[in-house]
Amino acid sequence: MRAQQFFISTLKEAPADADIASQKLMIRAGMIKKLAAGVYTYMPMGLRVIRKIENIVREEMDRAGSIEMLMPIVQPAELWKESGRWEKYGPELLRFKDRHDRDFVIQPTSEEVITDFARQEITSWRQLPVNFYQIQTKFRDERRPRFGLMRGREFIMKDAYSFDRDAQKAGESYKKMFDAYCRIFSRTGLVFRPVAADTGSIGGSRSNEFQVIADTGEDLIAYSTGSGYAANIELAEALPPAAERQAPKETLQKVPTPGCDKCESVTALLGLPLTRSVKSVVLAADRTDEAGRSLPARIVLVLLRGDHSLNEVKVGKLPELKDGFRFATEAEILEAFGSKPGYLGPVGLDPQKVKVYGDLSVRCMSDFVVGANEEGFHLRGVNFGRDFPEPQFADLRNVVEGDPSPDGQGTLKLQRGIEVGHVFYLGTKYSSAMGATYLDEQGHPQPLEMGCYGIGISRVAGAAIEQNHDDKGIIWPEAIAPFEVVICPMGYRRSEAVREACDRLHDELQKAGVDVILDDRDMRPGPMFADWELIGVPHRIVVGDRGLKNGEVEYTSRRSLDKREMVRLENAAAFIL
Ligand code: ATP
Ligand code: MG
Ligand code: MG
Ligand code: MG
Repeated sequence: MRAQQFFISTLKEAPADADIASQKLMIRAGMIKKLAAGVYTYMPMGLRVIRKIENIVREEMDRAGSIEMLMPIVQPAELWKESGRWEKYGPELLRFKDRHDRDFVIQPTSEEVITDFARQEITSWRQLPVNFYQIQTKFRDERRPRFGLMRGREFIMKDAYSFDRDAQKAGESYKKMFDAYCRIFSRTGLVFRPVAADTGSIGGSRSNEFQVIADTGEDLIAYSTGSGYAANIELAEALPPAAERQAPKETLQKVPTPGCDKCESVTALLGLPLTRSVKSVVLAADRTDEAGRSLPARIVLVLLRGDHSLNEVKVGKLPELKDGFRFATEAEILEAFGSKPGYLGPVGLDPQKVKVYGDLSVRCMSDFVVGANEEGFHLRGVNFGRDFPEPQFADLRNVVEGDPSPDGQGTLKLQRGIEVGHVFYLGTKYSSAMGATYLDEQGHPQPLEMGCYGIGISRVAGAAIEQNHDDKGIIWPEAIAPFEVVICPMGYRRSEAVREACDRLHDELQKAGVDVILDDRDMRPGPMFADWELIGVPHRIVVGDRGLKNGEVEYTSRRSLDKREMVRLENAAAFIL
């Protein structure tokens, strides 16, 4: 590729509304352009990165036996009504009507459509197992689109769906996908960690996320120093304390969120908008270590769920809440916890030191609420085990660094992560709701066992930059760089020797299958180097008359710009390969 035939459009400054490195750098490097909140154009340079990620994903999905297909972006609402998610999904689901007043959605995910496909196409046990994937645009009307490609509203996802005859086989399919994901993220060159995860609005009972480690990540994960144990702290929010899961005497009540005194008073207290149900309340405590030094306060009770602005107020984020804390009286604590003695126990707090945020927490806590993902309504008086299956997670809500790992091996460490992939075991949730069955050997209809598997293709690009950049720009891992090598001529038009050497090297590298770009724009060296350092091409070869006199060119790796090596021109291609 020659720069003159390509489109390079770099900026000195990032726009004021760009928050984090990846967003700023992708905009400055001319990779993406904002069209609307959370909606971006992939510019030619950015699209090359996206395609490289897609290719890795495609190769590994194919290798794992998944079959590529492509489902429509527009989906009829009927399918979502059948699965029950038309009501449940909330405002993230973009709904619209066609000219005949029929309801449609823009797909945030494709469980409904693939299940509808499967119930027509899969009839016999002989067709199983089978796994389909697509790489397709998704739309989620995120409440707070931000961070560029990382939390877009329109984004590119690889989503796959497995179909099996029974739970054991579905487990094998899940494992295959898990392994494929490990290979995919290893190949992208990212530092990642698979963690146990909540199943959220997709449903299902077993799930793992793939988290790219980065301080700017929106997720907090805990992992053990002594074993492979790792989990998303979000899990904590999915799990009420054991005592609350068992005891409620009330009948299940469906309560509208606006107008619920508990929800409204919690959100008013926190100064946050009430958009979804409040699931629980906050209680914070000052803590000291063995030596009596004070540690950051931590949340003792999980607060709120289902809405991202509220989710931010979670473990480790207490300082914002400091005003208005007071010590709870013993009577208040007993009133709140008296019937649930196990509750304070695992937390290991001295009740005298528990601070209650306002007096509200005491009132709210006695009444467990779920259904935060449902817009406008929640359920009160839920009994886990009776109304929902018992969650199987470890209770992580109160962990701090140094706590023992739930698997008994080693201690926990915390770190921030970016969720780039997610694998779910779905069971028969969708197949039962939508009547997707196959005939077994005896000719009896059985519900299909399903799994679903997502990768945020466009988010991976952002996550890669969060992990790999410096003050000059992006440092792409080779496997997903827009170009692997840039040739920078010193006087492409002026010097025939330079031009000839560059052309030859370019053709040689291209023939060898290297993704090379020759910068024939005839720019001054300073701005030319600055462009490529910003764009983040991993290898640079500078060709000038001075070096050529000795038959040499200069090689620099993007990771160590200070280190310049002279390489013989005839060896340059081999040097890079
Ligand atoms: P998050 O917790 O970040 O909102 P999610 O759990 O809602 O993500 P999934 O339903 O698991 O997302 O979708 C599969 C993958 O799609 C995610 O692992 C992530 O990589 C990607 N993804 C989800 N939402 C977005 C988004 N708004 N922008 C970019 N990628 C996204
Ligand atoms: Mg989400
Ligand atoms: Mg998530
Ligand atoms: Mg997820």
